Amino acid sequence: MNRYYGFKQEGSFKTFSTKLAALLISFLAIFCFLLIAMPDFAGLWPQKLSENLKIDFINVGDGDAILIQTPAGKNYLIDSGACISPEEANILKVSRVEDYLRNLKIDKLDGILITHWHNNHFSGFLRIIRLYEVQTAYKITAKPVSNSDYFDYTELCKMKNIEKKHIAAGDILNWGEELFVQVLNPPTHRHKIDTTIEHHENSAVILLRYGKVQILLCSDITPDGQKELMKYGESLKSQIIKLPGHGRENTLFEPFLELVNPKKAIISAKLKEGLPYSITDSLENLGAEIYTTHNHGNISITVGGKTEEDYRLITNID
Ligand SMILES: [Zn+2]
Repeated sequence: MNRYYGFKQEGSFKTFSTKLAALLISFLAIFCFLLIAMPDFAGLWPQKLSENLKIDFINVGDGDAILIQTPAGKNYLIDSGACISPEEANILKVSRVEDYLRNLKIDKLDGILITHWHNNHFSGFLRIIRLYEVQTAYKITAKPVSNSDYFDYTELCKMKNIEKKHIAAGDILNWGEELFVQVLNPPTHRHKIDTTIEHHENSAVILLRYGKVQILLCSDITPDGQKELMKYGESLKSQIIKLPGHGRENTLFEPFLELVNPKKAIISAKLKEGLPYSITDSLENLGAEIYTTHNHGNISITVGGKTEEDYRLITNID
């Protein structure tokens, strides 16, 4: 009897502890699910965003140069057009990237990212690499068939012992804990590129997300490439877009723009005759404000990220 009684006791204790364990595991599973599905618990538990993210679209004329200063204090430069003399810069009324960095007292770059090998995106890097300490160079896999600067660039990277990383669609770049950086293009399968269209089809498209604010940097992706990008669906929705194509006619695929649904559209360009109506009309229909480096000079965006509207844009020319 004693033994039976004891067994019964033991049994009921086991049942109780099993139930408790099951309950705890269920709570843990729900917690983990919520953490993955809703990182900020639907706004009830706001993310801690320590500092602002800063993105500067430097006016380099007909080209791109985008400086990212992360909340953790790291500096990344996406593209560097305009490898010109100070005199030329003065005449053209554009900024040289090196002067821009010097003014901000930046002497080290944690990374440079080359979206494609056209000189208006890339040539400025030759001086930047000579002048600055650069940790990592991110580049697309495809090599240009002809671009003499490319060979100088590879030699310089070797000489200065810069870590080289290939990027392709799907890669997540580790640019700091609070900042999400994903490569959306190019697909990995191309290795040699020659024509302008091949360069642009293979250009690196980068998505940045900080808290509730998203920024899409489109390099010079073609309208066909934009159509391809639509496979990412709703996740493309971004408050800010850097448009591809430097404000030229036939550079945008309207359904892609509608999917992104930007509030601010940035165009880095030297405009001879203003923007084509096809571009201004599509953006105005979406209610997006247009900023061009031609008209507004350097364009800076500061992102707090706590709400969808927590960012501000300032320009050095009104
Ligand atoms: Zn290009």
